[in-house]
Order: sequence, then structure tokens, then C-alpha cells
Amino acid sequence: MLNALTVDVEEWFHICGVPALEPETWLRLPSRVERTTRLLLDDLDAAGITGTFFIVGWVAEQYPELVAAILAAGHEVGSHSFWHRRVYELDRTTFAADLTESVRALEAAGAPAIAVFRAPEWSINRRSDWALEVLVRQGFTVDASIAPVRIVGSVSSPRGPHVRETPAGPIVEMPPLVADRFGQAMPMGWGWGLRMSAPSRVLKEIERANQSGRPAVLTIHPWELDPDPPRVALPPGLRFAHYFRLNGFRGRLRAILRGGSFGPLRESASASLARQRSS
Ligand SMILES: [Zn+2]
Repeated sequence: MLNALTVDVEEWFHICGVPALEPETWLRLPSRVERTTRLLLDDLDAAGITGTFFIVGWVAEQYPELVAAILAAGHEVGSHSFWHRRVYELDRTTFAADLTESVRALEAAGAPAIAVFRAPEWSINRRSDWALEVLVRQGFTVDASIAPVRIVGSVSSPRGPHVRETPAGPIVEMPPLVADRFGQAMPMGWGWGLRMSAPSRVLKEIERANQSGRPAVLTIHPWELDPDPPRVALPPGLRFAHYFRLNGFRGRLRAILRGGSFGPLRESASASLARQRSS
């Protein structure tokens, strides 16, 4: 089974809802995205893995050579919006405009037609499921923005690849890997859950998902590999999501990459849906 390795290419200061980190401050803050994304490119190259890089449009515009390096390494490129805002805080028109802007920036940097999307902070949920129709209308075929966990998504949302119908047509949804721990669904394929877990535990949960017929979707941020990350004061939930157990994560990630079978999101999605159709 081919699992999906995804990367959200963003700066350490792309954190939603923090007034001190609004877009007008971005050019004054120290940039780390090039250096840290290149660390990740090195590790993926060493592991012989290609994945999907969801790039913030603003980053693509500032660092087109980074987009070129990602493409040259054979990775798939998707959109992580232009301004990195939560979808449920936008209306349909503003979201559509932001999406258009992100695609324009990625294509200007040399990316082929963009068809895969990841919302900032898993922000497509019941409050914003209209966004799937906007994605279909703009030519997207796969979305990976809906997390089956309580805090940012919905526990009743399917855990495996599935098709969502919209008034404009269908779109494939690829949820991130969750695990049942301590009586609830926790993030196992991304964020604090991925960073705090031993590689053997993560690999076991990937295996468990695969045995249930589901590929695992992992998500990494370049700032999680920063050896000397800049920090700002954040509210407790965001502090945990961004800063908890960064120490040693690059080594643990390398062990996970060595231990599993990973590829780009679209390839993982089509293999999984083909299996579902034939069974
Ligand atoms: Zn993000």
C-alpha cells in the first residue's frame, strides 16, 4: 500500500489568528523556509521518497527558486492557499480569490497545473464545506483539508480516502492519519501527535491503517526541522501545536521515512480508490 507523504511549505510565522503575525509583519520577520525546506528535500532524497508539497502562494512568490528545487526533485506541488488564512473565516468569494492567487503564484514559479489543495489548519469542516465546490470549480481533483479529529475537524468524518459530491461535481478527500489513544482520536500523522510519538509507534499505526485498507497520510512542516526556531508568545493550544517536542524530530522523521512506503498524494489516492472499486 502506498502511503502519502505531504509537506506544508510555510514560514514559522504562518500561524493563523495571531495578531502579532499578520501579513504586514511578514517581510520584517526572519525567513527560515528556504533553509528548512532544503533540509527536508535532502532527507526525502536520501530516503528515495517523492511526496506532495503544498506551498503557500506568498512563499512561492518570495522564493520561486525554492519551488523550482521542489519540482526538480520530482515532487508533486499543491496549493496551501495564498495568505494562509482559515477557510471558515472567509466567505466563498474571498476564498475563491485567494485560491486563484495561489495557483497564479505557483504556476508563475514553474509548477504544472495545480489540482491538489490543503487548507491552513485543517480549516475545511462543517462550517466551510462549501469550499469543496469552489475547489472543484477551479479544477482541483483532490483535497486533503478535513481532519477526523475533534478540535479542528469532526470525529465522524471518514478516516480513509473517499469521494465528496458537490454541486459542481465530485472531489477526492484524503484525510490525515489519526489513531485511537487515551479514549479519543489523536493526530498521529501530523503535528504534536507525530512529533511526540516514537517512530515504531507511528509505523505501527500506519500498518494498522493499511491493514484496514486505508493508506496513511503524513504531514510535515519545514519549521519542525529548524535546529534553531524563532519563537513568539502564542495562546496555549497553538503553543502546543507549534512548539511541543520539536527536539530530535528530524531524526525520528528519518526513521519513519525509512520504515514505510510513501509517495505523492494523488498517486496514493488513485491507488486506494481503484482498490475500493475493485473490491
Ligand atoms: Zn499551514
